Amino acid sequence: MVDCNDSGLGRDYKLSPIIKSVYEVLTANHLVKRGLDFIKADDETTLKDQITICEIPAPTFKEEMRAGYYMDQLVAAGLDHVEMDSTGNVFGILQGTGKGPKLLVAAHLDTVFPEGCDVTVIHKNGRYYAPGIGDNSKGLAALLSVVRAFRDTRIKPIGDIIFCGNVGEEGLGDLAGIKAFFRDNADVDGFIAVDGVGSKDIVYLATGSRRYEVTYRGPGGHSFSTFGVPSAIHAMGRAIAKIADVKTPRDPKTTFTVGTVSGGTSVNSIAAEAAMLIDMRSNATEELLKVEAKALEAVRLATYEENARWQSDSITVDTKLIGDRPAGNQAPDSVIVQAAYASIQALGNTPYLEGPLSTDANIPIALGIPAICLGGGGRGGSAHSPDEWYENVDAYLGPQSIFLTILGLVGADGMSKPLLP
Ligand SMILES: [Zn+2]
Repeated sequence: MVDCNDSGLGRDYKLSPIIKSVYEVLTANHLVKRGLDFIKADDETTLKDQITICEIPAPTFKEEMRAGYYMDQLVAAGLDHVEMDSTGNVFGILQGTGKGPKLLVAAHLDTVFPEGCDVTVIHKNGRYYAPGIGDNSKGLAALLSVVRAFRDTRIKPIGDIIFCGNVGEEGLGDLAGIKAFFRDNADVDGFIAVDGVGSKDIVYLATGSRRYEVTYRGPGGHSFSTFGVPSAIHAMGRAIAKIADVKTPRDPKTTFTVGTVSGGTSVNSIAAEAAMLIDMRSNATEELLKVEAKALEAVRLATYEENARWQSDSITVDTKLIGDRPAGNQAPDSVIVQAAYASIQALGNTPYLEGPLSTDANIPIALGIPAICLGGGGRGGSAHSPDEWYENVDAYLGPQSIFLTILGLVGADGMSKPLLP
């Protein structure tokens, strides 16, 4: 039914008759209209929230302070029981009328910026500058506005909605917060991640990644007087040369890189230790496992060859998995993508179906649970850099599209049945 063009613009995207009729009903309903008006009028409060959140540091693994603040904000926005789980995620439930699907809506709390990084927001020439101002202060603030819209309109969802600020999305966090949530809550039927800026993009495909820390160890010694023993750096060099020659397919896109190297003590020492970090990614699990097997084989062979070169067995290698994000896909015409598409379109925008990315949605997508990632609204750039910026332009369109998408998915009492099974 869906014929998505290659550019991902979705110009030929077709909504199913069921989705169309649900969104005709929803967008004509006076309470839904009131919710959309509320979010627009709430824009200034949302911007203030975004700035306040941004100025509370939250490096991955050190989100407690921001999590504590966010818990209070979820309560203030209208949720009754807000709690923190053992992983550090904070969440509250908006109870449905019963027998509906359970939807998790989450924005990640953490940033890529280390402790001590200046997170003061600077307003200059219409732009807000601060590390983390968009990713993900915007997502967290947008989610609060959506909760307030439910409180203001008193719309009763049919399915339960869990609103969550989650930990561990970035870098070595390795999606720990959402992994734990789905491990501990097997009854979640759908997932929306609210991440960063924008109000037109729909991420529905998941790029998987595997990351390793590889450490070679050997006897070490003086470069002249001990010459004749294997070197940890030489062993690692052999491994890197082999990894550099690995062939991967263009489609599904599969990539690898040795991102960092370290080791040795001085120019005139045979290295006793050398370490590297390897990053591998693919849009298909099968290809990810293939490139991983090739890289690990290169690591083992290099150990063998360096030892054989000096008739030794003193070089050893340690490989440690430090990142594991599953790949996955779902149909572009799946119900959750259609609901988001219809919502964005209903607000007068042309939705954009993104290519595969690495987001919190990877976890449910890999589990076969409908999941997407949407932006929190507004415009921005230079994410993950200290120059990150944000413009509060038509920012309310973000929370408005999230509000509409949620309503379609979980249904609303007296308006529409849930689209999610
Ligand atoms: Zn993010």
